[in-house]
Amino acid sequence: MSNGAFSIPRPVNEPVLSYAPGTPARRALQSAYETLYQAHTAIPQFINGVEIFNGKKIPIRPPHDHQHTVGYWCEGDQSDVRAAIEGALEARSRWAAASWEQRAAIFLKAADLIAGPYRAQINAATMIGQSKNAIQAELDAACELVDFLRFNAYYMEQIYKEQPESTASIWNRMEYRPLEGFTFAITPFNFTAIAGNLPSCMALMGNVVVWKPSDKQALSAHYLMKVFRESGLPAGVINMVMGDPAETAKTVFGHPDFAGVHFTGSTQVFKDIWEAVGKHIHTYKTYPRIVGETGGKDFVIAHPTAQLKPLATALSRGAFEYQGQKCSAASRAYLPKSLWEEVKETLNRQIERMKMGSPADFGNFINAVIDRKAYNRITAYIERAKESTEAEIISGGAFGDAEGYFISPTVIQTTNPKYETLVKEIFGPVLTVYVYEDEKWDETLDLIDETSPYALTGAVFSQDRYAIEAATERLADAAGNLYINDKPSGAVVGQQPFGGGRASGTNDKAGSKLNLLRWTSPRTIKENFIPPTDFPYPFMEKGGREQVEEQVREAVHKLKDLGSDIVSRLSEKK
Ligand code: NAD
Repeated sequence: MSNGAFSIPRPVNEPVLSYAPGTPARRALQSAYETLYQAHTAIPQFINGVEIFNGKKIPIRPPHDHQHTVGYWCEGDQSDVRAAIEGALEARSRWAAASWEQRAAIFLKAADLIAGPYRAQINAATMIGQSKNAIQAELDAACELVDFLRFNAYYMEQIYKEQPESTASIWNRMEYRPLEGFTFAITPFNFTAIAGNLPSCMALMGNVVVWKPSDKQALSAHYLMKVFRESGLPAGVINMVMGDPAETAKTVFGHPDFAGVHFTGSTQVFKDIWEAVGKHIHTYKTYPRIVGETGGKDFVIAHPTAQLKPLATALSRGAFEYQGQKCSAASRAYLPKSLWEEVKETLNRQIERMKMGSPADFGNFINAVIDRKAYNRITAYIERAKESTEAEIISGGAFGDAEGYFISPTVIQTTNPKYETLVKEIFGPVLTVYVYEDEKWDETLDLIDETSPYALTGAVFSQDRYAIEAATERLADAAGNLYINDKPSGAVVGQQPFGGGRASGTNDKAGSKLNLLRWTSPRTIKENFIPPTDFPYPFMEKGGREQVEEQVREAVHKLKDLGSDIVSRLSEKK
């Protein structure tokens, strides 16, 4: 019980550390990397406040050094999932009733722990487990996650402050209850920040959560759970289960208290999830919320007036940072014939300077792709492009898996505007270029809109405002995040709320109020200080001639009553 209208400090984005040579942050990160690389970390499930070390031990191997083992995670089964659901439901009443500032304090503390004492460790875990270089880990595991935690707490307070109008003697109030039941978070391998955000933002709003991280992100997920616990998260509020994804989903979606799923991952998995929830709709006590951010086929279109170097850099960074394993990565570029040769030359020169290898060597810009399955999928596209008469590899195209899953940054040029690498999400370091005739700007905008089922991010490069306006209008439904003269990746919490439509998701904008609202079930309370005391309303009263006639009738009745009264009294006297 608190007596005070508290407010969350207005957040600013967490400053990005440079890790330049000689800096203390670089030394701390290198040391954390070395320690974790040589350690043998045991990763338990975390259910109802207890670490569970049962089950098969699955080794964790860095994608850039797949013969090396850095630990193992413990594979759970369906009895663990059921225990996690029960633990969550048990924790619900106290957690849902806890003052919001207590919930906020836990996640604000988590933000400070990640920004401070855990920064090097969580970045190192992301570098080792997900093969990210130092700056990619810093942008994700440290800065974006800290931003999510701080901005969510701030947005929660803003939501709670949003109240309905009141009138004389009526006080209307709105309370933002958590969902009734338990929620389910399913997170992808590619962002530690997303793994931290999905379960924590639901818990922040008072929900209890079963969280299934990607097993390819187990190492950094372990540190997230450690931080949440150290921040004071009560038992049962977030339960981390690690088991077969489809079986876990089956157990969760079959439960009557399932209240909502917060998913980030591939489009097909999300469609399967939606279908499973639909099939069980008669089982549930409430209509579950379904939020999913999924795949992308993100475009860059350049107008003939585009500036060369910013364009080439947006392509090289946009397509190849984190090996193109970002949902927002530039993966198809539409470039005018007049600029193409120069862009190609600049882009190729930049790619030649990109070194590839382990993230332990800070000189490497490119690291490994996540696992053998991804390696096989991506290299198959490259192999087919090598064979195709419609495609030409103009940069990269080499790969090797002797030590790690390495694929060099690859640029494919195609003459077929519907060539497969312009249409499908590859999720690897592959950029496909389609060169258009300069005068076909409008047709090319149509082409972009109609080529892929996704609508996540896109970028327009031009110095001509009319061209920018035309692209903005024509591509209104082609991207949930549109960039002008910038790469289509790198959204910052609080600045560019993120998410897309069509096959890219429900567009509930992670890192914004819009997303948090999905995890509440508002209750409106009306209080009347002076309630009415009789039922008739004014409309029932009579007016004008009708009223006069009524009054005359009443007067006549009264006179008649009086007359008969007098007559009866006179007869009594007689
Ligand atoms: P994925 O779909 O393979 O896995 C995502 C999560 O779903 C994992 O935890 C996985 O174990 C789980 N899963 C797999 N099969 C399942 C099933 N049948 N039922 C329930 N859960 C299941 O995706 P990924 O490879 O981890 O991540 C890459 C994908 O995520 C890409 O498509 C990328 O575009 C997308 N992504 C989108 C965004 C966004 O904001 N739009 C952000 C990051 C990643």
